[in-house]
Amino acid sequence: MSTIRLEIVSPDKMVYSEDVEMAIVRSTGGELGILPKHTPLLTGILPHAMRIKRNGGEELIAVCGGFMEVTPHKITILASAAELPINIDINRAQKAYDRAQERLEALQKAPEEHKDIDSERAHAALDRAKARLQATNNKQ
Ligand code: ATP
Repeated sequence: MSTIRLEIVSPDKMVYSEDVEMAIVRSTGGELGILPKHTPLLTGILPHAMRIKRNGGEELIAVCGGFMEVTPHKITILASAAELPINIDINRAQKAYDRAQERLEALQKAPEEHKDIDSERAHAALDRAKARLQATNNKQ
């Protein structure tokens, strides 16, 4: 089966570098399935658990937003943070999820009293936590 190189880079390290059969990525323009020989593309990516088909199996990786460049032989993802499931601290992700939920609920109940809470930031934190929990199959 033909493959395409996939590299996922976070600010501090190369998180993933393998030849894969397919990558399924949530871009700012919608979900994309990237196969070998894909047409060149540059897009933003949203926080999510991306799916990778490799050696007949499926792997999940949490990516927390960034950019993706696709050429016919290579996919490069530059992520603000990215983790393999084995490196995800589930307790930490669950706490981040609960914290973000509480902030959003407080905003909904009493928006005037919580002007200091930035709803965009709380939504972004919730999305990052969801991506991590989904990558470890602790679905939210
Ligand atoms: P938290 O509120 O728990 O810090 P966060 O979403 O604000 O979560 P980020 O700013 O996205 O965290 O990431 C900061 C650094 O911490 C990155 O290097 C990221 O890989 C790492 N990180 C964040 N959450 C986790 C987690 N649950 N497990 C492992 N690494 C994590």
